[in-house]
Amino acid sequence: MKIADYEKLVGKDIIYELTLLAKKLKRRKIQCINSTRVGGGVAEILSRLIPLLNDLGIDATWDVITADTDYFNVTKAFHNALHGRKVDINQSMFDKFLSTGKNILKNTKIYGDIVFVHDPQPMMLVEAKGRGNKWLWRCHVDVSQPYVEVWEFLRKFIEKYDSSIFSSPKFASKLDIPQFLVAPSIDPFSEKNRDLTKSEIDTALARYGIERNKPIITQVSRFDYLKDPIGVIDAYRLVKKYIDCQLILAGNEAADDPEMDMVYRDIMQHKGDDPDIHVLLIKPENNDLDVNAIQRASAVVVQKSIREGFALTVTEALWKERPVVASAVGGIPLQISHGHSGLLCHTVGGAALHIRELLHSPEYARQLGKNAKEHVRRNFLSTRHLRDYMMLFLYLYNPQDIIYL
Ligand code: UDP
Repeated sequence: MKIADYEKLVGKDIIYELTLLAKKLKRRKIQCINSTRVGGGVAEILSRLIPLLNDLGIDATWDVITADTDYFNVTKAFHNALHGRKVDINQSMFDKFLSTGKNILKNTKIYGDIVFVHDPQPMMLVEAKGRGNKWLWRCHVDVSQPYVEVWEFLRKFIEKYDSSIFSSPKFASKLDIPQFLVAPSIDPFSEKNRDLTKSEIDTALARYGIERNKPIITQVSRFDYLKDPIGVIDAYRLVKKYIDCQLILAGNEAADDPEMDMVYRDIMQHKGDDPDIHVLLIKPENNDLDVNAIQRASAVVVQKSIREGFALTVTEALWKERPVVASAVGGIPLQISHGHSGLLCHTVGGAALHIRELLHSPEYARQLGKNAKEHVRRNFLSTRHLRDYMMLFLYLYNPQDIIYL
């Protein structure tokens, strides 16, 4: 897609502003670095924003670090700890982070004028900070109640960056560097979010043997305990006592998440032999189209996360005018204003109650969906995200100029 194509959704002025901002960044090389090219929200966002930055004439690139599974086991444990989950952390994990971090440092070429590092996995790269370039650390994790030992360990690296970015004001904490608030976004024209015909939706569902003979409740997520797939099954069972429905738990693999197999086994065990629970491993070759179709085919989309950085899965469902029931955690309340653009829940029982409410009241569900789409159009599309990032890139060089843009 070209940036000009977004004009019909967001208006002329926003596109004009983006081109003005981009002109001021033409001489800068922006190097984004994360730990996986597929799976999860970070890869999703980078895959959409980088081509748009390029279309605006900005030299933005995307590099992915490589490391062994042991390293990603450690960073996944850190990820869980940052989310406040109880995990056993020991000295050997810190040692592994440091020793592999040094290898990552050796093997990653740093060439950006602005080096834009996402999440903790590539964080140690900041040790390569030279005098000329600027370093940004983007946190996609819900760090509202982190396990202190891990946060303090990582903070030493975070504070070497020039600035940091978080998704929600709730994640702010004491840091010696500036902190910015930038919400993530979705791309309305991507394969995952574009409009689909009924036959495209039916064909995608048929790939997984799913019929639309009963209302579909869906959660799309990596198979991760923090997404509470077991809680989703429990909520579905409470609904099922009153309304005949089916549940889809759809997930894929992320290269930097080694915990998935264990979670998947637990889900399969908990599902038992209920033929109306569909646990889908989304086929990588059709991932975006299939996720799109499943979200659109759903009577209710659920996101019952225990912790959540932002939850693009929620944004995606809201954009598709789906009624969403989601936990009031992390960045989700930025997206869902309860009773206006969706429903928030705190417990399995609460989730079940809201799902029933929506299945019983299609007109209410339709209205929530309509409001939801407008909320996303105004706040969570790629264009707003590009603007925030470009403003931030400019700020790094010219803090005094930013007000004149
Ligand atoms: N996703 C996907 N296929 C799947 C499961 C998830 O493409 O089978 C995508 C999902 O559509 C969303 C992203 O992965 O774009 C997940 O981002 P989110 O912020 O919801 O959670 P994260 O995985 O980053 O914690």
